[in-house]
Amino acid sequence: MAKGPATVLGREEAVSPWEVALAQFHRAADHMGLEDGLRAILSQPKRELIVHFPVKMDDGSIRVFTGYRVHHNTARGPCKGGIRYSPRVTLDEVRALAMWMTWKCAVVKLPFGGAKGGVVCDPKQLSPGELERLTRRYTTEISILIGPDRDIPAPDLNTNPQVMAWIMDTYSMHQGHSVPAVVTGKPVEIGGSEGRKDATGRGVMLVVREAAKLLGISLIGARVAIQGYGNVGSAAARFLAAQGCRIIAVSDVKGGAYDPNGLDLAALNDYVRSQGTVFGFATPITNVDLLELECDILIPAAVENQITAANAHRIKARIVAEGANGPTTPEADRILNERGVFVIPDILANAGGVTVSYFEWVQDLQSFFWDEEDINAKLEKVMVRAFREVVNLARSEGVDLRLAAHILAVSRVAQAIRLRSIYP
Ligand code: NAD
Repeated sequence: MAKGPATVLGREEAVSPWEVALAQFHRAADHMGLEDGLRAILSQPKRELIVHFPVKMDDGSIRVFTGYRVHHNTARGPCKGGIRYSPRVTLDEVRALAMWMTWKCAVVKLPFGGAKGGVVCDPKQLSPGELERLTRRYTTEISILIGPDRDIPAPDLNTNPQVMAWIMDTYSMHQGHSVPAVVTGKPVEIGGSEGRKDATGRGVMLVVREAAKLLGISLIGARVAIQGYGNVGSAAARFLAAQGCRIIAVSDVKGGAYDPNGLDLAALNDYVRSQGTVFGFATPITNVDLLELECDILIPAAVENQITAANAHRIKARIVAEGANGPTTPEADRILNERGVFVIPDILANAGGVTVSYFEWVQDLQSFFWDEEDINAKLEKVMVRAFREVVNLARSEGVDLRLAAHILAVSRVAQAIRLRSIYP
């Protein structure tokens, strides 16, 4: 039988995201008594594509880049998952992210399986032309996997609506007609959905709001620290500020800005537009110190493995809402739970993005578009329902929210496999 969570405990810093994802899955499988056959199926991705592809650079040279697209599971529907551009992308990371997508889609009951993609590159070092050619060639290389009925990519770290527009156009050129439903997170003008850009951050706000209600914490004046002021972090900041929260610290890859009285978000956004970073806007703070700030709500919204056994004892927030995927290691999870920190796990907390991606896909398929009010209301319904289902299961099983979310998700995916049965 496969090994349980003990596999990764005790050597946190060296842990790969895939080991973390597997440990979380096995913990749920152990708790549920999942059949060995289903455990074996779900502890591997269904397929993994590695591509090495050339791109003509502006200076006339040719550079070869490496990219990945991984499908974890398709029992509940076509694959769904973002594409990230980062110098640190590895196959292990993409595998983990694909598995988390399977669970995330199941937690919020979307008819999708899980996928993820990535290209090893530093987009900040590429010109717009180079970025476009890289995107178009990567799309071509993975076009044997993607399609509106098969696998629908979306934005993630360092990718945005413009990158999605190039993916949509490239795939459409190959087909000879426009196929907007091949990708979500597109600009609204070419079949994107109202509300998609802010959806992940809005979803984070919704689960924080529900958690605060549950714990009897008022959001008026509640102190929020956010690691990663990108798509997810900046939208979460805006929506939480609108709920009355004080955003006391934010950061990006260059460092953070801290003001215990609360940052002026409009001025911060102007600063980011002109400087390209939050660093320097207010009192400097490191990404490490930000996590340990005296605050009520902590939102890791950057990358994996930020809250580990090394700093979990020093986290002071009462609520941790995981905007990022995989920011907390299993050992840190155990410490936070023991200390009574209310951790809203990634596969629930950041599911707002894929939920509105689902709405975008549905709108593209029917060529009939909804207004933003409709989208936001539908998103709220999905997030609040999922939050309550996870909390109720956590209470009835006497487990933490991450385990409850995994049990809910794994049981839904396992049931889909049982019903479909094993081919042939
Ligand atoms: P983004 O590229 O828009 O922003 C990422 C932010 O994190 C930037 O401010 C960047 O400078 C910062 N950052 C990067 N590396 C860092 C590091 N090592 N330390 C501190 N800060 C760092 O990306 P995003 O779309 O906001 O994604 C952020 C996280 O949210 C990722 O984990 C992603 O998988 C997850 N997520 C994104 C979506 C989405 O809809 N975009 C949905 C679900 C989950």
